[in-house]
Amino acid sequence: MSRTATLLDGKAVAAKVRGEVKTRAAAFTTKHGRAPGLAVVQVGSDPASSVYVRNKRKACDETGIRSFAHDLPSTVGRAELLGLVAKLNADDAVDGILMQLPLPAGLDANEIMDAIDPRKDVDGFHPHNTGLLAQKRPRLRPCTPYGVIRLAAEYGMKLRGLRATVVGASNIVGRPMALELLLAGCTVTVCHTGTRDLAAEVERAELVVAAVGRPGMVRGEWIRPGAAVFDVGINRSDSGKLVGDVDFEAALPRAGAITPVPGGIGPMTIAMLLSNTLDAAEARA
Ligand code: NDP
Repeated sequence: MSRTATLLDGKAVAAKVRGEVKTRAAAFTTKHGRAPGLAVVQVGSDPASSVYVRNKRKACDETGIRSFAHDLPSTVGRAELLGLVAKLNADDAVDGILMQLPLPAGLDANEIMDAIDPRKDVDGFHPHNTGLLAQKRPRLRPCTPYGVIRLAAEYGMKLRGLRATVVGASNIVGRPMALELLLAGCTVTVCHTGTRDLAAEVERAELVVAAVGRPGMVRGEWIRPGAAVFDVGINRSDSGKLVGDVDFEAALPRAGAITPVPGGIGPMTIAMLLSNTLDAAEARA
């Protein structure tokens, strides 16, 4: 079979979104006499989290967003971390608060995340923002699902009416992804470990989002010819390569469009975080 799928270039679209953010950040700075601000909190030194945090801070620098670094030891107590969140909530120079997950065992991530002012919740994880998305009036939207929607829009995809299957139902990706697709007018199926026949659910989908965290979990032969495939998964293969959740090589000749890993949803996620920070800053101002 020949290669037919359009490669959805998340890196290029993310660069475009970042360009928009840079323009908005410059205008905000001129108008308000200060740059939009993002506080990035990391607790402990998980190596993967450190890479993500570094990339987010660098992205802020490049787009004219001021980043405030808060690196805390993994031994930090609940009261101290809640105290920092309260301080950032009250700080006028801070428009967005990003709490890098996972938090060390012993800290209740839900309690900490719930303490963030929903107007500064640029990750879109606060129940208030999830609730608004569920009620068809999104405000700050979870970055990864929002990135999928923006990428599809940039390629002119018409989502309304499509049969969509989301593989994965986590609070940060799968569930809000289903809400975004519903908002866009898709007929949505969400799969998880209780799903009886995953292959059948994927086979009928005209749009597939894979967010499981298992390399090759979504098999190429399951992809309906012409389907749009968004691979959110980021996994390290045995040989150390970054791979997604979709068997990319096998899916490529069947899909109509597909995101690569890396260079697909990963860069879009960071771009939407920056965009959310500007949305938050403008709404607060
Ligand atoms: P979680 O581990 O929180 O959730 C995984 C989901 O997959 C769960 O809903 C789980 O079901 C489901 N699942 C697990 N095994 C199966 C199976 N055999 N069949 C069907 N469903 C299954 O992961 P995340 O949502 O946090 O992340 C998913 C992936 O996305 C990871 O690779 C992560 O690194 C990546 N990621 C990428 C981002 C990006 O920027 N590109 C951002 C965030 C995450 P159940 O609910 O029943 O347990």
